[in-house]
Amino acid sequence: MILSIESSCDDSSIAISEIATKKLVYHKKISQELEHAVYGGVVPELASRLHAEALPKILEECKGWFGQLKAVAVTNAPGLSVTLVEGVTMAKALSLTLDIPLIGVNHLKGHIYSLFIEQETQFPLTVLLVSGGHTQVIEVESLDRMETVMRTMDDSFGESFDKVAKMMGLGYPGGPVIEKLALEGDRERYPFPIPLQKRGEMAFSYSGLKNAVRLAIEEGSSEDYPDIAASFEHIATEHLFRKLRKYFKTRPPERFAIVGGASANRYLRGRIEELLAPYGADLLLAQLQFCSDNAAMIGRIAVDLYGEKSFTPIGELHSAPKSDF
Ligand code: ATP
Ligand code: FE
Repeated sequence: MILSIESSCDDSSIAISEIATKKLVYHKKISQELEHAVYGGVVPELASRLHAEALPKILEECKGWFGQLKAVAVTNAPGLSVTLVEGVTMAKALSLTLDIPLIGVNHLKGHIYSLFIEQETQFPLTVLLVSGGHTQVIEVESLDRMETVMRTMDDSFGESFDKVAKMMGLGYPGGPVIEKLALEGDRERYPFPIPLQKRGEMAFSYSGLKNAVRLAIEEGSSEDYPDIAASFEHIATEHLFRKLRKYFKTRPPERFAIVGGASANRYLRGRIEELLAPYGADLLLAQLQFCSDNAAMIGRIAVDLYGEKSFTPIGELHSAPKSDF
């Protein structure tokens, strides 16, 4: 068995995965969304304190497996430094007391492996990662060969939903509430500019759209919010759609996946399905419960890293706020 810990942002989560079958045998997550909602976003110091309370509570439930553990895995980058350190410190303590190796896991790779919690890996794969901190297109050849080919120049897709919700006074996280509000609105009413339209960059940008939405909110009233939400969701998605359509002209997808918290968005899923149809490429999605942060995905990749003996010496396992792969 491998015990895996996730604390990169505002979810405290621990999983136990069986090495031989790669199956998830235990998973628990304590989310801090309610605590951060009043502030309209994640407050790092508060998140850190809440992890320090929640992680030991979950760990206690796992004591029965301690004798069977062959390794302990932990997300060590990227994320908030003050929250990553909570998980990393716990993992180091377990590694020392149980005398088992440590496996440092990259959180973004973890999101990609959320696709494979219930199935074997399928490569090559083109991945759209849409989370709170990232908007990237990643070409995945194998566990060790992943390359980011497009990224955002400023805000991320998910973050722009959070900021729009905050401007409307709708709390945090913004994705689910904006998606729900958008269902009642008219997607065509506000023709917000599609980001980076005239410029040829193969990149994403959400700061300009966010400002255009801010002006619409300031000029309108709360009765306009459903139309603003619908038009915003449409343009935010249209931006991804058009950049991907351009990318596929040079590199047609064989197999495509959307991962990260915002991959739960139904409008986005529908538009990507439409984009993939002419290529006959399969669309892989994680189960809804594994789209946002969780330790199950860390456990899934840790099983494969264990197979490669990719262990991290205790003195070399550091938490790093910024990191690609
Ligand atoms: P990262 O993995 O980049 O460090 P994170 O782990 O904080 O960021 P996730 O938990 O993967 O991010 O995703 C959270 C983000 O997903 C939030 O910005 C949230 O608003 C967004 N999100 C969740 N559900 C939806 C939805 N239905 N539509 C759009 N965005 C959504
Ligand atoms: Fe994440």
